[in-house]
Amino acid sequence: MSFFNNLFKKTEKVECPRCLGKGFVDWADIKRLKRYLKWNPGSCAFCSGTGKVPKDRIKKVPVDTSYLSIELTARELRKLFRGDTEALNRAKQHDDQMDEIIVEIQNFHSKNNWNLDQICTHYFLKHSESFSSDFHKNEFSDFVRRVIES
Ligand SMILES: [Zn+2]
Repeated sequence: MSFFNNLFKKTEKVECPRCLGKGFVDWADIKRLKRYLKWNPGSCAFCSGTGKVPKDRIKKVPVDTSYLSIELTARELRKLFRGDTEALNRAKQHDDQMDEIIVEIQNFHSKNNWNLDQICTHYFLKHSESFSSDFHKNEFSDFVRRVIES
C-alpha cells in the first residue's frame, strides 16, 4: 500500500538557504543575496522563521525572490511553496516591477534632479491607495533613500 508510505514519509529538511538556519534575515544575508535595496532585516519568510526547509522547496521557489516576504498571506505562501505556476508568475512579476521602479527612481533622481521628498510625493500621489498609512510611507521613503544613495 504505497499511500501508507507516503502518509508517514518524513520530508527531508535542510538548512534554509536564505537565512542559513538562523530563522531571520540580517544584513549579511541581504548582502550575500544582493537584495540591499529590496529587503529589510527580519523574520525569514523562506523558512517561516524555523531555519529549516523541505529540501524540494529550494528547487521550487527562488531563494532571493522579493515577493516571498512575511507580508504574504498564508494561502499565497502555501501556493508558492507548492511551486504553483501562477504564484511563481506573480513572484516574477513582482520582482520585475521592483526592478523597474528602482530604475524609475534612479532616473527621477539623476535626470530630473528630484530629491527624496519630490520622488516620494510623486509616488504617494500616484498610488495614494497604497500609501494610506505612515508606516508604508516611511518604509517607502527609506527604500527611495537607499536607491538614491546606491
Ligand atoms: Zn530562513
